[in-house]
Amino acid sequence: MISAGHFDIAIIGPGCFGSACAYHLTKLCNKKVCLIGPNEPQGPRSDSKNSVFASHYDTGRITCCSGTNPVSPRLNQRSINRYREIESESGISFFNPVGFIAIGTKDSEFIRVTEKCLDQFKIEAEILDSNQLTDKFPYLTIPSNYVGIYQPEKAGYIDIRRCVQAQIKVAQLQGCIRIAEIVESIVENKDGKLKISTETGRYITADKIVLATGAFTKCKDLMASWNRKLDLDVRRETTVKLQVNAKGLQDLSTMPSLIYADATEPRHVCYILPPIKYNDDGVYYLKIGHGLHYSKKIDPENLVQWYHGSGDPDAETSLKQILKKLIPHDYFTASKCDSCAIARTPHRSPMIDKVGNNVTILVGGNGGSAKSCNEIGYIGALNVLHRKWHYDIPASVFQVCYEENESKL
Ligand SMILES: Cc1cc2nc3c(=O)[nH]c(=O)nc-3n(C[C@H](O)[C@H](O)[C@H](O)COP(=O)(O)OP(=O)(O)OC[C@H]3O[C@@H](n4cnc5c(N)ncnc54)[C@H](O)[C@@H]3O)c2cc1C
Repeated sequence: MISAGHFDIAIIGPGCFGSACAYHLTKLCNKKVCLIGPNEPQGPRSDSKNSVFASHYDTGRITCCSGTNPVSPRLNQRSINRYREIESESGISFFNPVGFIAIGTKDSEFIRVTEKCLDQFKIEAEILDSNQLTDKFPYLTIPSNYVGIYQPEKAGYIDIRRCVQAQIKVAQLQGCIRIAEIVESIVENKDGKLKISTETGRYITADKIVLATGAFTKCKDLMASWNRKLDLDVRRETTVKLQVNAKGLQDLSTMPSLIYADATEPRHVCYILPPIKYNDDGVYYLKIGHGLHYSKKIDPENLVQWYHGSGDPDAETSLKQILKKLIPHDYFTASKCDSCAIARTPHRSPMIDKVGNNVTILVGGNGGSAKSCNEIGYIGALNVLHRKWHYDIPASVFQVCYEENESKL
């Protein structure tokens, strides 16, 4: 086995959380930090031999200050407030402040929770009835008993690939070493040092580790040395991208991101990103994804195969139906379907907690943490550097959860 060096802190997982943690750790201390994990495969994913993938291999991710649990709005706001700074430090732009609308029936839980959140966190928003909604966004067709909560500021979408690139670039400028390898195992030696072995037969030693491996965390038995299994509920996700023609591009040129909570048909709860270029081919796509109905549990051993495929055809059919209802215009031509995955935690906040003294767990995006990843990475960095909890939201919110019958070490 060939050594790839010794580090004070090794972050495993160069995704949303891991890159943000590297960004902050290299600002907060002078320790030797590395960030380990594969680059995004070039070319079709089905041709890739990688044994792990990521949830951030995408361009459009909704961002907004509101959130549906008591903690996420604070994490969202703190991250959004840092976007411009990260862009300027890295020279990589990723934030498109096109606004965001939450649409649902007046009396729905979704609208009630969003309104309460706006109030509590002093988020600027307009509440529009269905007529006002269609006046402002004439391409939408909205039933009369629906309202829209429109956040014009600090909301829209981020290009999550570029956001991750930006965080990694700044971390590297600050001294972080990037190691593009997949980790196969972690062993804690008797002296407390950690040995990280990679698929290519190299190894890295570290005093501390951050595990930020997202939905693929359980695909390798990385917690074997601690005899623990994290309670992560991994769900498969399908998105549909529809190519937008010239008329559509014109009409949808100021379209915000949106979430639509259909009150009568759970299959039709969806989120939509406005037309975005996903590749360098100059083609714009509108992206639509589903709510919980099509978010089905998937076992770790089936994840790679799922990523090689092109999503769930039932979800695709349903998403196209709802889009036809919401934007009933001839804007769309070809479509393509994509597969992805999310990792849910029992408490619906990310797990940011220690296992023993030297391992920080930083996983559980719960399907909506791209927007807040920078703050989540910051909390992770504080957790690595301090023995005691150093953040103004209680540690219990982010506690690590193990599969049934297991408790924290
Ligand atoms: C379809 C879809 C739509 C979404 N839409 C939104 C949205 O609109 N807004 C929003 O805020 N959020 C959204 N999310 C959620 C967001 O993308 C996730 O919350 C976020 O990516 C989680 O970040 P992470 O760092 O935990 O995981 P990831 O970003 O997946 O990063 C994990 C990293 O770990 C690496 N890794 C895994 N195993 C190993 C290993 N053994 N060795 C080395 N490296 C390893 C992976 O390669 C990857 O780089 C969406 C997610 C999906 C799937």
